[in-house]
Amino acid sequence: MERQKVTKMKYLYQPPKLFELIFPNIFWRTSNETMLLTFDDSPNPNITEMIIEILDKNKIKACFFCVGEKVEKYPGLISQIDQSGHIAANHSYSHPNFIKLRKKDKLAEVVRTKEIIEKITGKENIYFRPPFGRFDLTTLSILNEIKMKNVMWSLFPYDYKNDLNIVKFAVNKYLKNNSIVVFHDKPGNNILEKSLNYLIEEAEKKGYKFGDPAGCLKS
Ligand SMILES: [Zn+2]
Repeated sequence: MERQKVTKMKYLYQPPKLFELIFPNIFWRTSNETMLLTFDDSPNPNITEMIIEILDKNKIKACFFCVGEKVEKYPGLISQIDQSGHIAANHSYSHPNFIKLRKKDKLAEVVRTKEIIEKITGKENIYFRPPFGRFDLTTLSILNEIKMKNVMWSLFPYDYKNDLNIVKFAVNKYLKNNSIVVFHDKPGNNILEKSLNYLIEEAEKKGYKFGDPAGCLKS
């Protein structure tokens, strides 16, 4: 991709402080000056396992935002995420755009996946990330009602675009000690392994630490 396009893409997400005060249950960064790695669209055979292997090797605990209909297909991968000490979190049941759904359908998407995940892990599912990062006030009120937290991100390195130079640019310029980074657990994302290893190496050089998800996401 051309240099110009690369620099024009949006990598850093940082809402105004006031926004964070009004919505304490939305996370655009961690609350404890450690970094959190998150993966969207899990689980996927081979890819999820590869991610877990890299995380385990580096003693990092991460959040996997899982799509309910894929969880039903691959429950073993959810157990693997959970048993390796990572969080199997909620990314809706069928990955729709929440802004276009009626309230009861939004609720059904979240609750159905919450129940499937909880049945497999035996742990309460607290964390949700809306598909495409799109949500509205109704989504937030549902999450408040069922006591769930909306986990967004601060660093979006476009790993799924399959251009390692873009990922390196984003990491070099925007990685912070409180970043919530989003990667994509997705077939066809051929640079995921390299992207992940690059970020981990750079974080180490900068002296940044990875935190425990629960500690990173305290309101
Ligand atoms: Zn997604």
